[in-house]
Amino acid sequence: MATTINDEFEHAPRIWVNILLFLLTTLGAVVVVPWYGLVHGYSTAAWVSFFVLLAANGISITAGYHRLWAHRAYKAHWTVRLVFMLFGTMALQNSILVWASGHRRHHRFIDDNERDPYSAKRGFWFSHIGWMLRDYPSGRRDDSNIPDVLSDPIAVFQDRYYVPLVLLTNIGLPLAIGALVGDVWGVFLLGGLLRLVVNHHATFFINSLAHLWGSQPYTDANTARDNGLLAFLTYGEGYHNFHHRFASDYRNGVRWWQWDPTKWLIFALSCVGLASELRRVPAVRIQHTRLERQFKRLEEKLAHREQTKPSLPQLDAIRARLSAEYESFKASFERWRNMCEQHLEGPREDLQRLTRETLDFMRTVRARLQSIEAQLA
Ligand SMILES: [Zn+2]
Ligand SMILES: [Zn+2]
Repeated sequence: MATTINDEFEHAPRIWVNILLFLLTTLGAVVVVPWYGLVHGYSTAAWVSFFVLLAANGISITAGYHRLWAHRAYKAHWTVRLVFMLFGTMALQNSILVWASGHRRHHRFIDDNERDPYSAKRGFWFSHIGWMLRDYPSGRRDDSNIPDVLSDPIAVFQDRYYVPLVLLTNIGLPLAIGALVGDVWGVFLLGGLLRLVVNHHATFFINSLAHLWGSQPYTDANTARDNGLLAFLTYGEGYHNFHHRFASDYRNGVRWWQWDPTKWLIFALSCVGLASELRRVPAVRIQHTRLERQFKRLEEKLAHREQTKPSLPQLDAIRARLSAEYESFKASFERWRNMCEQHLEGPREDLQRLTRETLDFMRTVRARLQSIEAQLA
């Protein structure tokens, strides 16, 4: 009898290396780390090693593994890539090749239970950690979607020597730091073990919580959410709704006030010549997407009101206002788009002025939509 893809998922063999790794490191972090702290206490140096290595690992995953290698959102000097590779290896989230390839499939097939390696539609546990515990068909290695990453010798070197590099960075480095500051066990437990477990779950939250909890300002076509609290814990990656809509942008927290240390680091690297070709989606396009979403939400609310309270006298007027707003919003965006297409011939200042005007106009549309929304509440 032929086996179906569902059978394959149900009977996927367990990956014991991963199960044991997660089990032992978690047990160590919740039992051994507090026990040692109570009995012997931790030195300041051990705590410093924890926070510094945690940040170095976290940002190497977000700025390196994620935005550089998986999304090509910018280009980085080889010295930066080398640092990201070493501290990314320390984060123990598999090699750059495996990570980037799986992540590209996550974006391409988002929420597709058969092809998205960490599909949120399979629930919190699966998308958080379960997807790594069994050899699921959606998680099998396939490098065919990363030809560009395969041409980076640093990524290929890391993949070839992954295990020795993991041992060197996770055991060798904490022991060396511990010997240097005179607290081998303290640094090993905090900078080695606790740092690893905290970094693991912070990253895993992006695949689980950031697909469950938060707002959807840019798209509701998938489960990804924007969540400021998660962004704080994950160096900016919590603005996941924006990210899934504009994955090639080097920013995830696109607004200037949004907490995204990864984008600040990439920008800072570009200022000193260590990063280049930072990719940004034009602000008008981003606002256009946000407003489209706001119009859609209002349409749905209005339709619901028309069904539940058809006798409300102002509904007709609201519908007329909404469609007039939509027409003028569309016309303003089209004007901007036409000028963009022609701007190679026209003067640059004209395009900059129209961009400013379009953004100002979109801000006023947004405010008017909010007042319409209040009427429907
Ligand atoms: Zn995602
Ligand atoms: Zn991504």
